[in-house]
This record gives sequence, C-alpha cells and structure tokens, in this order.
Amino acid sequence: MTKKSRTRNSPKWGDATKLVRGGLDRTPYGETAEALYLNSGFVYDAPETAENRFANKDDGYVYGRYGNPTVTMFEERLALLDGAEACYGVASGMAAVWGALACQLKAGDHIVSSRALFGSCYQIITAILPRFGITHTLVDGGDLKAWAAAITPQTKVVFLETPSNPTLEIIDIAAVGEIAKRAGCCFVVDNIFATPILQKPLTMGADVIVYSGTKHMDGQGRVLGGAIVSTKQFKDELLKPFLRHTGPSLSPFNAWVLLKGMETLKLRVEAQSEAAFAIAETLAATRGVKRVIYPHLPSHKQYDLAKRQMSKGGTMVTFELEGGKAQAFDLLRQLRLVDISNNLGDAKSLMTHPASTTHRNIGEEARQMMGITEGMVRLSVGLEDVKDILDDIRQAIAS
Ligand SMILES: *Cc1c(COP(=O)(O)O)cnc(C)c1O
Repeated sequence: MTKKSRTRNSPKWGDATKLVRGGLDRTPYGETAEALYLNSGFVYDAPETAENRFANKDDGYVYGRYGNPTVTMFEERLALLDGAEACYGVASGMAAVWGALACQLKAGDHIVSSRALFGSCYQIITAILPRFGITHTLVDGGDLKAWAAAITPQTKVVFLETPSNPTLEIIDIAAVGEIAKRAGCCFVVDNIFATPILQKPLTMGADVIVYSGTKHMDGQGRVLGGAIVSTKQFKDELLKPFLRHTGPSLSPFNAWVLLKGMETLKLRVEAQSEAAFAIAETLAATRGVKRVIYPHLPSHKQYDLAKRQMSKGGTMVTFELEGGKAQAFDLLRQLRLVDISNNLGDAKSLMTHPASTTHRNIGEEARQMMGITEGMVRLSVGLEDVKDILDDIRQAIAS
C-alpha cells in the first residue's frame, strides 16, 4: 500500500473533519469510502519479510488478531478525535474496560472506583478482579475527600464513569485526575455516555479512555465494538501484549461500520443532546413525573460542574415516576413509538427500567447505594422529531 494514498491527519482539524477524514488510508484504487479488508491472515513476499514482521522490525500486518487495516483506520480516527497518541480497537465496550484494567493489574493491587457504574463494570471490579487477588474501594464519585482517602500504597488504578448509568451523576474528572496523578495511579475514564463530542477526558487529566463503539459511534443499532484510547507507551507496553494473546479483536466489518457511523457522530450526538434537553425540560413540568435527572437542567445536583465539563448535557434522560415499578412498567407498556430496549445512543429512542434490566444483577443493596429506584426509567433520546417522542411519552404517562 502506498503511503501517498493516505490523508495526512491534522490535529488542527475540527472534530467534524476528524470524524470524516481521520485515519483514511486509501488503496491505489482511490475508493471514496474506507476500504473493508475482510481477511484474517496476511501473506509475505519472502520468508525474511515474515521474520522481520515477527521481530517487530517492520510494522506490516501479520494476523487478524494482531491488527487489520480497516481496524487501524478506526483506531487512528478515534485517537485523532480525542487528541491521543494511540488507540486500540476491541470487540466491545466491556472488552475495552476489561482490557484497560486487566492489562496492568496483578494480584495484590487495589483499584478505586466510583460506585455509580454500568452493571458489567461493577461486576468486573467487584466480582471478577477479586478472584485474581485485586481489591477495590468504591466511593461516592462527588466526594473528592473520599477519593483521596480511598487511595492506598497498593492502588494502581482510579476508574470512573461520568455521566454515570443510569443516574447521570457527574464526577469532576480534573479533580479526580489530580488525586490520581499525585498518587501515581493510572486514571481510566469510561467516556461512553458523553462521547468525545461532549467531553474530552485526556484534556482533563485522564490517562486512558474506554469506549463502547456499540453505543453512539455506531449509533444505528448494528454492531458491537469498543476502543481503548491511551499513550503510545501504554498501548505498546501494556495493551498489545495483553490483548494480542487474549484475543478480544475488533472485527474488520464492525470497524468499518463504526468508521461510517463516526462520520455522522457529531451531528447525531449534538442533535440528540438538544432533543434530550428539550424533553427533560418538558418532563420536569409533566404531572406524574416525580423527578427528572438531566445534567444540563439547573435542578441537577452537579449542574455547574456539568456545564463546565460537558459542552452539552448528553443524549440520556432519566426520570422517576410517582407510582414505582408498577407505574414504570405501565408507562413502558403504553409506549407506541419509543421502544423498550436497554441499548443506548441509538437513532431510535429507547427506554428501559434499569432496576429490572441493566442493573438487575447487582442486587438491591447496590442499587440503593447507586440511587437506582423502582420507579426510575432511562430514556435514550434518538433522532425522531422531539414532538413525536414527547407526545408518545406523555400519552403513556397519562394512560
Ligand atoms: C454499554 C456500556 C458499556 C459496555 O459496552 P458494550 O459495547 O455493550 O460492551 C460500558 N460502560 C458503559 C457506561 C456503557 O453504557
């Protein structure tokens, strides 16, 4: 492949340009769209070439589990968008979370994490890592003293997600980053809810960012994918040796779908966030709705921080109904447009009851700790007309 065919990435580009052009590596055929290399293996012109590749003297491809040109385009596009040196594409968001943590932790290490977490992240930290002798402390993300107090000499990683799923808690990334840095810990941020469009954690002190490509990057309900954004050193020394041998590779086809999804990521996330804000405002004034949680509503308990940290309030709205689980289920049953689904970041508006679905397995006690109530529903705002989404939710609440 001639390097002439490659668009030269510019860190000076705006996000929209990075999303359309970043990482583009054309073949000599000059195709407009990113090429899909649907192959598992690679061949060599001579045994010496193969030898050099395996000796890392030549950076060509060797095997699909190690890398693929379509996956590379996806990785370069996302790294450019986040202002990072490197990115590693993986099979799902959970492969990204697991890879970012497991590549660097060993028995005896300790992890400090916010307690408001996506269900599977909670399982990794509280049930899977402990089997390998890695201990943890969960803290109230908003309590900066608690973060500092939880760090021990064994703490290797500080982990958080903001906004959190489903209670949309906002954590001060820069302040926690300071604490992590002072303690010499690796600071990992799950930026899945905000996306790199609304929030850039590397500029606030994060060392590593994890993403689910499944959510907003695809954003059209088609493929699973994930990514870990980091320094080149973190990728080369920790991620590569771990991920190449454990195998959570991103399929080239999925990488290609994600590349096409990224072209419209900014447009979609901004439009969905504006719609979510309008819906949150209206629901807050709707009878039968006890409480609306939305980061850019002045009623949000970390409103000032959310305004400072996120350029828009995000695509998710969480609200609580007066009648508990029975009323939440009634509402879901009455929906005619919005679908019942635990997925999020999609072009289609989706609603779920976290206590019985995404956060079912963590148990009642953990739900209480995270503030997840039986009357709570989580709405992922899609790209339909705002009026139609609102009409549907209001008729469902009324009936
Ligand atoms: C969905 C999600 C994940 C996991 O992503 P998958 O692609 O489903 O594996 C991790 N963290 C958060 C906050 C999520 O919403």
